[in-house]
Amino acid sequence: MDVETLVRRSLVGMEAQVYPCTQRGALLLDANTNLVGRNPAVDRAAKRLDALDLAQYPSSLSDGLRAALATEHGLSAEEVLVGNGSDEVLDVICKAFCNPGDRISIPTPAFVMYGFFAKVHLASAVEIPLLGRWQLDVETMLRARPKLTFIASPNNPTGNAFPKSDLERILAESSGLVVVDEAYADFCGQDFASQVRRYENLIVTRTFSKSHGLAGLRVGYALSNRKVVQKLECAKTPLSLSSLSEAIALEALADKTFMRESVRVVQSERVRLAGRLRELGFQPQPTDANFMIVDLGVPSEPARQHLAGRGVMTRAMGDFKGLERYLRITVGRPEHGDRLVSELQNWKASCSR
Ligand code: PMP
Repeated sequence: MDVETLVRRSLVGMEAQVYPCTQRGALLLDANTNLVGRNPAVDRAAKRLDALDLAQYPSSLSDGLRAALATEHGLSAEEVLVGNGSDEVLDVICKAFCNPGDRISIPTPAFVMYGFFAKVHLASAVEIPLLGRWQLDVETMLRARPKLTFIASPNNPTGNAFPKSDLERILAESSGLVVVDEAYADFCGQDFASQVRRYENLIVTRTFSKSHGLAGLRVGYALSNRKVVQKLECAKTPLSLSSLSEAIALEALADKTFMRESVRVVQSERVRLAGRLRELGFQPQPTDANFMIVDLGVPSEPARQHLAGRGVMTRAMGDFKGLERYLRITVGRPEHGDRLVSELQNWKASCSR
C-alpha cells in the first residue's frame, strides 16, 4: 500500500504541524500565551466538579457558554458558535464556505493556520504582502475578490492592530466573507465583535487562550449573523468542546478580574521591555498585543538557538520571507522580560567574542 497515493491530494508530501514548544521548566516566550499567572477560574470550576455529570455528553453546541458569550457581546445565542479553540472555529469556517479552488485572501505575514486550513481544504491561498510598517494593502486585497478573507487584528506575527478605517473599508467593499480574528484584541481594546450586526459578511473570532490565560483549555468562538452561524453549525463536529472546558470558560467569563489584570500587566510591560531591548541596540516593533517582533539586525535563528539552550523559548521568524532578522517574543511579567534581556545580552557578548 502506498499511503502517498491514497492520501487526500492536499496532504501529499506534507508534514504535520508541530508547534509550539511544551518543554517543562522552560520559559515559554514562543506561543503568545499568558504568562501573568494562573486564572482562578480553573480552581473555582474545580470546586464545582460534583455538579458536572461527565457520564453524559455535553450539549452539542455548548449551549451554556454560547448563551453567556451572547450576553457578553450583546448578541443572541444564534449569533455565536463555540469551538475547540479558535483554531477549530477557523477550520469550520473553511469547511462551511470553501469549495476546492476558492480563493482565500491572507495578508502576510499572517498566523500560519490560515494557510494551513486553506491548503488542507484545497482552497487557493492568495497571499497579499503587508505594506511598510505592516499595514494592509487594502486596494490589492479588494481586487483579489476572494470568497474568504482572514485578517488577524492585532496581527500575528507583527503585533499591530490595523486601522479601524481599513478594516471597515474591506468589510464594506468585499463581496465575500471577512474573518476578523480578534485573538489579541483585549490587549488593545479593539472590538469588531460589536459590528457583526452592521456588516453581514463579518465573522469575528475570539479565544480564551490569550488574555484569559486558558490556552490549554482550547476554547474559542465565532460571532456573526444567524445565517452564517447556521452554516457553521452544519460543518462543525458536534460535541467538540468538553463539559469541563465549558465549565471553566463560564467561570472565566463570570469574573474577568484576572483577564483585566493580565491586560494591564502586558500593556505596561511591553513598553518597558521595548525600552530595554532598544538599549541593547535591537529594534522592537510597536505592538498592540501580548507579543512583539524584534529586529536583531542579523539573522535571528542563532539567537533563538542560544536562548533555547538557556531554557528561553522564542520564535525565529525565518519561515516568513523578509523577517529573517526578527525574533518573536511573548510579553509576560517584568521578570520574564528581564530574563530574556539578560540572555540576549549574553548572546550578543558571545557574538563579539
Ligand atoms: N488566531 C491567532 C491570530 C493566533 O495567533 C492564535 C494562536 N496562536 C489563534 C488564532 C488560535 O488560538 P486558539 O488557541 O484559540 O486556537
